[in-house]
Amino acid sequence: MPTSDDTPAYAGPARSDEPTARCARCGAVAAVNTTSMGPNPGGTTRVDEKHAVFIAVCSACGKGTVAVEYGTWFVYQNSGFSWHRTATRMYWPIGAQAMPISEGVKIPDDVLKFWHEAGLCFSVQAYHSAAVMLRNVMAAIANDVGGSDVVAERHLDGKLKKLAAAKPQTGFYLQHMEALKAIGNAGAHPEDWPEVSKSNAETAVMVARYLIEVLYEQPQRIEANLLRRNQKN
Ligand SMILES: [Zn+2]
Repeated sequence: MPTSDDTPAYAGPARSDEPTARCARCGAVAAVNTTSMGPNPGGTTRVDEKHAVFIAVCSACGKGTVAVEYGTWFVYQNSGFSWHRTATRMYWPIGAQAMPISEGVKIPDDVLKFWHEAGLCFSVQAYHSAAVMLRNVMAAIANDVGGSDVVAERHLDGKLKKLAAAKPQTGFYLQHMEALKAIGNAGAHPEDWPEVSKSNAETAVMVARYLIEVLYEQPQRIEANLLRRNQKN
């Protein structure tokens, strides 16, 4: 939720001290209700002195993400515990934390949708399904970067050819794009390809994450923080 002073809502993975999060299940940035697995303050459940666990329920889709937090429980005499968070780790589904995309970066909805689905597939060890979703991420990136000619191409092979022709700078990443195309084909056509292993899928997640970094995050960071020489009077 945007706050009154126009500070953008927190858009990272759920944490116990933020009222919003990017949902690992639907991809929306939305208010979260933190619920504990027992009665205690702050919606977190005490595991031991250094750990807490909570369920962040997304107000957009109504589904929950489980997270383990590291921090310190302060004990008050006769008045229970107070939780001070230092880090949030170990999410389920794993898509919640799989190399989260920087806050405030504009990524096309289709790219984000398939990226989240890939994370969900990976978190339940559905590596062939994750491979297909990462191929969809690649196709969505090609459509967005390449424009109408690329969108008009039905097959990813054709999309990548048109993309490289229209935007020669994407040629640097052709090897990465081809790798995602290949693993996606392996996920969808097991009769023609070897099995997609966990490490194949892990590599593909990293490759897709890298493409999101170089094609969206870095250019937007540079644009937002570019220094220009002062005007001479
Ligand atoms: Zn959601």
